[in-house]
Amino acid sequence: MRSCIRTPIVNNISMKIFTLLFLIVLSTKGFPQHFDSKVAESPKNIILMIGDGMGYNHLLATYYYLYGTADSCVFSKHDFTNLAQATYPAQLVGGEIPTWSQGYNTGKNHKNPANLLKGATCSGSAATALATGKKTYNGSIGIGIFGDTLVNLVHAAKASGRSAGIVTSVQISHATPAGFAAHNKSRSNYENIAQQMILKASLDVLMGAGHPHYDNNGQAKNMSYRFVGGKELWSQLKSNPAPHIIYLDDHKTKLLNKKGQPNPWLIIEDSTAFAMLLEDNPPQRVLGIPKVHGTLQQARSVNKKSTMPFETPYISDIPSLDLMTRGALNVLQQNANGFFLMIEGGAIDWAGHSNQSDRMIEEMIDFLESVKSVIEWVEDYSSWDETLLIVTSDHECGFLWGEGGITAHFPIVNMGKGHIPKMQWYSTNHTNALVPLFAKGAGQELLELFADNYDPQHGAFLQNTNIAQTVFLLWCKPDYSGAAK
Ligand SMILES: [Zn+2]
Repeated sequence: MRSCIRTPIVNNISMKIFTLLFLIVLSTKGFPQHFDSKVAESPKNIILMIGDGMGYNHLLATYYYLYGTADSCVFSKHDFTNLAQATYPAQLVGGEIPTWSQGYNTGKNHKNPANLLKGATCSGSAATALATGKKTYNGSIGIGIFGDTLVNLVHAAKASGRSAGIVTSVQISHATPAGFAAHNKSRSNYENIAQQMILKASLDVLMGAGHPHYDNNGQAKNMSYRFVGGKELWSQLKSNPAPHIIYLDDHKTKLLNKKGQPNPWLIIEDSTAFAMLLEDNPPQRVLGIPKVHGTLQQARSVNKKSTMPFETPYISDIPSLDLMTRGALNVLQQNANGFFLMIEGGAIDWAGHSNQSDRMIEEMIDFLESVKSVIEWVEDYSSWDETLLIVTSDHECGFLWGEGGITAHFPIVNMGKGHIPKMQWYSTNHTNALVPLFAKGAGQELLELFADNYDPQHGAFLQNTNIAQTVFLLWCKPDYSGAAK
C-alpha cells in the first residue's frame, strides 16, 4: 500500500494531461484570467489549515509515532487530492527591478539537497502569498513587492457576504494569522497588526495566544500587550459591557455588522468558555485569548530532561487547537452564506526552530486532531459538495531528514508506535523544500489544474500563490472595492 505522506510520483502521461487541460481551459499559463468558473463547483465554505513549518517528514514522523505506520493516514482514508507546494518568496535582487529568489529548481535540489537551505521564505511572506495570491518579500504582511496593499481571503469572504475566522496556536498577530487579515511592511509590528485584525478586518472569529497577563506556562504575570493591540485597546475590549466604539490615539472605530448594528467582540479566556462555543446558539463574534502568552503549549518550560511527547504535563485550562477549531466552526456556520476559516498549527514551527522532536510531534498531533474535527464537521454538518478543505504548510522548518547527512535525502527510520523515529534536524531555520498539500471538496480540481510543475520526489506541485488564486476564482471575483484599506 502506498504511503499517504510521500506524494506519489505522477507519471508523464498524467502530467501531459494536466498541462493540456491547463492550456485548453486557461489559454495562458499563470493566473487564469479567463477561467470558466463552471468547470469547478464554487464552495460555500473554504477551510484552509496550515501546519506552520510542517514538511513531509514532520507528518511522517508523527504518523510513525502515533501508529507505527503511515499507510492509512487521515488524508488517504478520506481520499484527498495529494499535491506538493513550492513556498519560496519574492526577493529584491539587483536593485529596482524585483526578481524572485532562486525559486525551486527541481533538478538542482534533487541532486544536492543542501541547496534547499538557501532562499527560504519567512512565515510573513508565505502567509501573504497563501492569503493574497502574490509572492512578496520576507517580512511583509499583506504588502506587495511594490508596496501595494494586497487583497486577502478574509476580504474575499467578507465581500461575498460570508463570515471569516482565524484560529492559531501561537499569538493572534504572529506572522501567519497576520498575513490573512492585516497589512504592514514588517511582521514585527505586532501591536499595529493586532489593532488591524481586531478593529479593521471585520473578522467574526479570532483565536490564539498572546495574553498580556499570563506567561508561557500559563502563570499570572505582566507580559507585553503588543500581541493584543496594546494596553489601551485591551482594557477597552475587556470593559463591561463589551464596547462597540473603541478610541485609540484620538481615533474612533465603530465595530458594526453589515447592517450597521453594533457588533462588539465577546472576549473569552478560559477553556470552559471555549468549550461552551460548541453549544447551541453560540455568539456571533468571538475573540478568544487563552491565558497563555507565547503558544498554547509548545513554549511551556521543559520538565527536567523530558524528551518524549507529553512527558512534561500540559498547562491546564488551556484549550487545544482542536477545541478552538470546533468552537470556531460552530460560530461561523451560523452564516447561511458560508465562511472562510484559516486554522494554523503555528507552534509546529517553533518546535522546528528549537529542534524539539517531542514537541514537534505534540503540536502535529493537535493539528491532526483539528484536521479530523474539520473532516467530521464537513461530513456531519456540511458536505464535500459545498465545502473545500485544504491542508498544507507555509514552509518546511528544521531540514528534518534521516541520519546520514544532507548530501542525499536519507529517509527517517520508523521505530514503531510510541517511539520517536530515528531522524536528524539539520537546521534551526526554514528551508526551501516543497511541502505537502492535501485538498478535498468543491473546487479541488482547480488546485490540481494549477499543479503544473513536477518534482521527481514529490510529484505534481503548485505555487503557494495558487491557493488564494483558486479561492478568488471559485468565489467568482466578488466586489472588493474598498476592501483593502
Ligand atoms: Zn519559523
